Amino acid sequence: MDRIRVLVAGVGGRMGRLVAETVRAAPDLLLVGGVDPAYAGADLGEKILSQRSGMRVDSDVSSAITRCSPQVMVDFTAPDAVMGNLREAVARKVACVVGTTGLTAGDLEEVGRLCAEQATPAIVAPNFSVGACLMMRFAAEAAARFEYAQIMEFHHAGKKDAPSGTALVTAERMARARGADMKAPPPERLTLEGVMGGQVAGIGLHAARMDGVVADQHVVFGGPGETLTIEHRTTSRECFMPGVLIAVRHVLEQEGLVLGLEKLLA
Ligand code: NAP
Repeated sequence: MDRIRVLVAGVGGRMGRLVAETVRAAPDLLLVGGVDPAYAGADLGEKILSQRSGMRVDSDVSSAITRCSPQVMVDFTAPDAVMGNLREAVARKVACVVGTTGLTAGDLEEVGRLCAEQATPAIVAPNFSVGACLMMRFAAEAAARFEYAQIMEFHHAGKKDAPSGTALVTAERMARARGADMKAPPPERLTLEGVMGGQVAGIGLHAARMDGVVADQHVVFGGPGETLTIEHRTTSRECFMPGVLIAVRHVLEQEGLVLGLEKLLA
């Protein structure tokens, strides 16, 4: 069987490097190139991977697609870069696996439309960790049974967006499962601006950024006389790699835009 040709956008970043190493180590996948403006022209192997690769890093997705004809582009870049990369890849009929967070509902609508027009699949998942997917599923199930809920997410200090895509999707799934807002009584007196966090359908969202953390989330439910906490902790970015591999291996069989990893884990 032919190996799937994979391009990694954001290849010089924290996630992109690991994805490139993981793809390179997979016997059924072939790393054909990397895109990162900060490393343009550098040898992918020398600068980014642990071994020489003989491949140069491209400055943009368009040149990389022309040069290395990928079947799948994996994007772990930044909220202001991802849509440009996606438009280019889908227009060139390259299937996409997107981990970059910060896409808006309007962005996702556009991606869905482009994928349908070009008959090209894409998987966009705010969290590729299997544990995080289960945490979201369990939180949606619990949301129907409790009246109060708070989501607390903790990420490394370098994360560019807040709240995390995972926290937002968790809240949206909980709200859909519940079909009504959670109770969120405002305090009588607020002495510190912003202390209550944000809200989605009465679910409190709180984001913290600090060294020492990769990506953790706690979902706390409250009801008469009890609380339930669903907690997901990560210790390294390795946790995202099994999910990324599942997405890369299965994206070409999908139709249009697939949101989240859930469908592929069923
Ligand atoms: P990072 O270390 O900042 O890496 C992003 C890389 O992309 C940087 O090297 C950046 O270069 C580069 N870049 C910027 N614009 C680009 C473009 N147009 N084309 C190609 N590369 C470009 O960030 P990270 O920690 O790896 O995270 C990347 C994204 O993945 C974030 O949105 C994060 O929230 C998300 N993430 C998702 C998951 C998941 O499971 N879905 C897990 C972890 C992280 P410069 O530094 O020069 O801008």
